Amino acid sequence: MAKITIDKEKCKGCQLCITACPECLIDPSGPFNSFGLKAVKFKGAKKCKGCMLCAIVCPDCAIEVFK
Ligand code: SF4
Ligand code: SF4
Repeated sequence: MAKITIDKEKCKGCQLCITACPECLIDPSGPFNSFGLKAVKFKGAKKCKGCMLCAIVCPDCAIEVFK
């Protein structure tokens, strides 16, 4: 089972990763960061395949994938 971490200070809430995840594991209701931008959050590792699609599409390199 894989998992991801999302660096909320790098995330600008563009939601590209939400669209990219084939398992719908990323949610828009994350915390606000220090720039006042609403980050996304990871919903859980149960179905994460470690496919890295979320990390690849992120323009701000905010996502790390652990397999
Ligand atoms: S690694 Fe793949 S399955 Fe896991 S959260 Fe990212 S896009 Fe979704
Ligand atoms: S693609 Fe990156 S910057 Fe955009 S919402 Fe996802 S983690 Fe945040």
